[in-house]
Amino acid sequence: MNPARHRFALTFIPLLALLVPLQGHARNPVEAVKALDHDGDGRVSLSEWDKPKKPFQRIDKNGDGYLTAEEFAADWGVPMPGSEEAATPAVIAGCAIPPHPLPIADAHYHILPWQQPDDVCRLMQEHGIKWIGGAGQMQPDALVDRYKARLGEQWRIFGGQRQLSMEFPKAHGHGIIEDADHPAMRELLAMLDKELQSGYFKGIGEVHINTRTSAPRPDWQRKLRANAPGIKALADLAARHRVPLSIHAQWDNDTEQQLAALANHNPQTVILLAHCGTDASASQIRVFLNEHPNVTCDLSSRYDRVKKYPERQIYAGNKLDSAWKSLIEEMPERFTVGVDDVHSEKEYAHVVRAIREGLLANLTPETARRVAHENADRIFGMN
Ligand SMILES: [Zn+2]
Repeated sequence: MNPARHRFALTFIPLLALLVPLQGHARNPVEAVKALDHDGDGRVSLSEWDKPKKPFQRIDKNGDGYLTAEEFAADWGVPMPGSEEAATPAVIAGCAIPPHPLPIADAHYHILPWQQPDDVCRLMQEHGIKWIGGAGQMQPDALVDRYKARLGEQWRIFGGQRQLSMEFPKAHGHGIIEDADHPAMRELLAMLDKELQSGYFKGIGEVHINTRTSAPRPDWQRKLRANAPGIKALADLAARHRVPLSIHAQWDNDTEQQLAALANHNPQTVILLAHCGTDASASQIRVFLNEHPNVTCDLSSRYDRVKKYPERQIYAGNKLDSAWKSLIEEMPERFTVGVDDVHSEKEYAHVVRAIREGLLANLTPETARRVAHENADRIFGMN
């Protein structure tokens, strides 16, 4: 893990204060001690501590059995009140989004190189997009860090896609992804474990399982077994870190059965079905979601994107397919939205318009709110 990521971790804590409701004392280490220091000795002993022992031991940096304000400050990554550091405003990562009647959480977005970090933020502000994420990046880490430094916690980036879609097939062929014991897969699993632990990645994927006719590049087209040991290992890792696993899978019989086996393999794994199974029908998805409560559908790239595949279109212009409308109203907590990958501001605006005017506008207000952001906020830990 490069030092940049550590440095990044320290800059976004203040942003957390903006986004996440605070418990009790507003992240003030001195107040935190005062609140628990019943005997007035200026520090918190284990007997005064009102939470589990594990966080006490984590905060007690010098291991002397007492918690001081400095130790709270260090653990929270905030400056001590009155310190010089507190006086200098921290560089806050994040993108202030103006209030919007129906904000969108973009739960499937790939930042492409045509966008500079400020462009990403500006488009979010212009289109009422409160946060983005749910997909991986192809760019090298250094570039990714630049976007992260700008967007902070509002970018719920997923890990592993660059390796699984691009690097591994080139170096080893597609098949190794099914093999949890292949050295490259073991290394990837170890890296993901570390970066999920550090909070750098917020999920895994998207993992291209069946992209026979839906990958952005011919050399990415493939069909893997969704329940292969390598994919199961990714699912277990996601469950262990309580983060989602995004799976891109076109819908045919064996892929459907294998995905069912994967969903059953570890019911703790939150599976995001990218593009809601790409070419799956509403009735197929109804059956699948009923059988697998740990699966949620992201409806990205199901607008009039690829004319030659009309079966993939669910919403476009100001229209929503009636079969999908009834399914989404039937299961309003099981769908999210996303822009996926676009190559210009014009295309970005077209996709957001299709989501707003085609999909959300044709749902009841309650369901629209859930699909627009509440479901994604819940699944991505943004509520
Ligand atoms: Zn995809």
